Amino acid sequence: MEDYKKYFPIYANHKDLAYLDSAASSLKPKCVIDKIDYYYNNICVNVNRGVYSLSYEATDLYEESRRVVAKFINAKEEEIVFTRGASASLNLVANSYMDFINPGDEIITTLQEHHSSFMPWLNVCNKKGAKLVYIPLTEDGKVTIENFKKVLTKNTKVVAINQVSNVLGYTNPIKEICKLAHEVGAIVSVDGAQSVPHMKVDVKDLDCDFLSFSGHKMCGPSGVGVLYGKYNLLQKMPPVEFGGDMAQDVYEHEMTFKDAPYKFETGTPLISEVIALKDAIDFISNIGLDNIKARELELKKYALDKLKSVDGIEIYNNNLDSSLITFNIKGVHPHDAASIFDKNNVCIRAGFHCAQPITRFLDQISTIRCSFYFYNDFSDVDKFVKSVIEARDFFLSF
Ligand code: PMP
Repeated sequence: MEDYKKYFPIYANHKDLAYLDSAASSLKPKCVIDKIDYYYNNICVNVNRGVYSLSYEATDLYEESRRVVAKFINAKEEEIVFTRGASASLNLVANSYMDFINPGDEIITTLQEHHSSFMPWLNVCNKKGAKLVYIPLTEDGKVTIENFKKVLTKNTKVVAINQVSNVLGYTNPIKEICKLAHEVGAIVSVDGAQSVPHMKVDVKDLDCDFLSFSGHKMCGPSGVGVLYGKYNLLQKMPPVEFGGDMAQDVYEHEMTFKDAPYKFETGTPLISEVIALKDAIDFISNIGLDNIKARELELKKYALDKLKSVDGIEIYNNNLDSSLITFNIKGVHPHDAASIFDKNNVCIRAGFHCAQPITRFLDQISTIRCSFYFYNDFSDVDKFVKSVIEARDFFLSF
């Protein structure tokens, strides 16, 4: 396996680290860290404001990042809004699109969602008297088109759905969902937090109306996220935050706004973070999303094969098309197990992963999630499986 760890300074500082929590946040390569340093050492000033060369340079790099993000997902640059992260993007869509929601309207979502994907719409429903409707999941927790059709009606106004679940890792049939939703005049807001870092996502091909994702899960800095929106929708939607930089003309009792995307980006943005997001995208594009996916699947297969040979393990997603494994050690609380992983420098996640409905669907209060990215290798998996056995043997010995 090619050694990608050499690009990530954290490994030089933590020699025996087995980082298996990339679904929460990825590690950051040197080129991204260097770009943030470059901004603070050489530019340091605000964008869009200063009438001097340094500010022009900051603005140029900021807008270059917008172009790179747009190309990465096959959008136009004016369709890219920079936010604080996927949660902020998902909230922006709901809080703005709320103006077009009326009592009796229906918003479709799934039990698979991360809280940040469906809670903004639950809030909209509570405020507007609309109804949140859930696509029935199959026994193993999957979304099917057949079940989607059962809840899609002429009252459906929005479908809020993840492309890849952060607990089960399933890839949802977004393209078909968009097609069917559009036939009844509904829009589709896709949570791409777990898909964009791992697979080629083409918004034109999917024909989704919105796509939200975070920089920090795809080798970029924390604090920056992206909202893609179809331009005609972004133009008709009202801003949800008001102030500096997004205004056109402001009087005592009247105000007008810039066009999208700028009307959604008030105040000083996350300058170094946006600028360095370009380097993260260049970095993963150079490795290649197909290579990334192939490597993750190889690791998952290797890990699943090993884990299945360990007694007393309950795996909730045996599918081989995702980069994460969610499981429990029978009779051991995930947080107890996590202490053994931590002692062995194996980083995994234990809890409900900001997705209580799907955790309840699994009839659990908490699970352990091990998630891979392309910098992981077989030795990480070996350390992980050793820790699973150690945790089981230690806690079941009482
Ligand atoms: N959706 C999904 C599917 C996620 O996994 C996450 C992050 N755990 C989010 C949304 C929220 O992302 P962020 O915390 O970067 O806002």
